[in-house]
Amino acid sequence: MAKTQRMTKQKKVIVEVLRNTNTHPTADWIYEQAKKEIPGISLGTVYRNLNLLKEAGEILELNYGSTFSRYDGNPANHYHFHCTECDRIYDIDLPGNCKVVDENTSLDGHLVKSHRLEVYGICRSCLH
Ligand code: ZN
Ligand code: MN
Repeated sequence: MAKTQRMTKQKKVIVEVLRNTNTHPTADWIYEQAKKEIPGISLGTVYRNLNLLKEAGEILELNYGSTFSRYDGNPANHYHFHCTECDRIYDIDLPGNCKVVDENTSLDGHLVKSHRLEVYGICRSCLH
């Protein structure tokens, strides 16, 4: 029982950290923030809860292969702009609010379950 409650508090804090930022942080950054609320929390616990939250569909993991994953508190399908200068990740709207493809539709005979679009370039703050 006590264990379940602790898990719940940890999860709650991690979700709050993620919902209160639009920077798409790494697990390390989330860990630093979560420590302010739960001083004894470990990085391993943060990773475990991030995975549970991801599997529950409450957050997104943005996996970049060889570099650290970034996490997103908004689980709805949306698109990202990745600045190659400063490594910031921004939420973007495609022109005309268009969607590249809809979920649960057929595409060339394949069933679409999810999709991801990443736009790369130089962000507005690096341009100025
Ligand atoms: Zn930038
Ligand atoms: Mn996002």
